[in-house]
Amino acid sequence: MTMETLKNKLKDLAALNIGAVCFDEPLSVHNSWKIGGHADLFVEPETPAQVAELMRALDGSDIPCVVIGQGTNLLFDDDGIRGVVVKIGARMADLKISTGSIIVQGGCWVPQLARKVMAKGLSGLEHCIGIPGTVGGLIAMNGGSQRKGIGENVVSVTVVTRAGEIQHLSQTDCCFSYRRSALQDSGAIVVEAELLCPLADQNAVRSEMLNDLRTRRGKFPRKLPNCGSVFLSTTEMHASVGPPGKIIEDAGLKGTRIGQAEVSTQHANFIVNRGGAKAAEVLQLIAHIRQTIRQRIGFELDCEVRYVGSDGRLTPAHLKADQI
Ligand SMILES: Cc1cc2nc3c(=O)[nH]c(=O)nc-3n(C[C@H](O)[C@H](O)[C@H](O)COP(=O)(O)OP(=O)(O)OC[C@H]3O[C@@H](n4cnc5c(N)ncnc54)[C@H](O)[C@@H]3O)c2cc1C
Repeated sequence: MTMETLKNKLKDLAALNIGAVCFDEPLSVHNSWKIGGHADLFVEPETPAQVAELMRALDGSDIPCVVIGQGTNLLFDDDGIRGVVVKIGARMADLKISTGSIIVQGGCWVPQLARKVMAKGLSGLEHCIGIPGTVGGLIAMNGGSQRKGIGENVVSVTVVTRAGEIQHLSQTDCCFSYRRSALQDSGAIVVEAELLCPLADQNAVRSEMLNDLRTRRGKFPRKLPNCGSVFLSTTEMHASVGPPGKIIEDAGLKGTRIGQAEVSTQHANFIVNRGGAKAAEVLQLIAHIRQTIRQRIGFELDCEVRYVGSDGRLTPAHLKADQI
């Protein structure tokens, strides 16, 4: 497809009832690493019906399309995306809490959800209080901390499929496993979820959340843009040599820098952007860390962070790093 044809197709899309749209949007303001080029078309739907309308219009077309939340687990290519970025964020963030059950839209910010759930005397989201993403991103990634995942709380998820159909998935349909869900393969878009959060002692829940936040403040870099933990931990690796942060630190890689991308001097499983870092620099640093650890102890460090190519394809960042 020529650039001219793509531009015309995107103009037609933008004229549909799909929510707020803008052209040539810098992606660096839509991810926590503050990295990436421009998106040709950036859309923020306000209703599930608008998401469905957009997906139906894209179905069968060759226009690349990426769905994002807060971009706290994504590395966008320096060339941006020649297609559409759909953000399920603050414009789709309704929340209804009743005894034991929570109905929340995909764009709700997780720390806010966790706080509101605690304020109603409900429990189960304590481990999510410090995760700066959206509910949709958290469910797609089965995110969590303290070896937990949000999948444990999911009763059902309402998604819009890539063909534009609205479907209701059960917890089983989502196939949750460690930092994975079936949504990563199907590309289905989370527009709403029902979560189960049992009644509990509010003071105990609050105190657990405060402890979690205190621990994070002490351990994680806060001043420089980052994407949280870059590498995944595995049970086997953890048992024999420890978590990725320890392994990388033991290899003497803390503070290693390529361009403006640096292995955090505070926590070695974080790569920080010292100002104007390029995606290519982060990828080179990931490749360097992987190679060093492979040669040193024989373990493969795979990425939790996902790289978004200019063709809209999402892959674990280490797969792209290996091609460099
Ligand atoms: C400081 C910091 C700390 C972090 N701590 C943790 C932690 O403790 N535990 C943890 O698990 N993660 C952590 N993360 C990583 C990240 O916050 C989580 O993975 C989060 O759930 C991603 O949400 P997001 O909205 O930012 O998703 P994005 O980064 O925008 O997207 C991530 C993936 O989800 C998909 N996605 C996004 N929205 C939707 C949707 N509505 N429907 C379907 N798919 C969607 C995207 O296509 C992509 O594949 C941390 C990140 C940072 C920066």
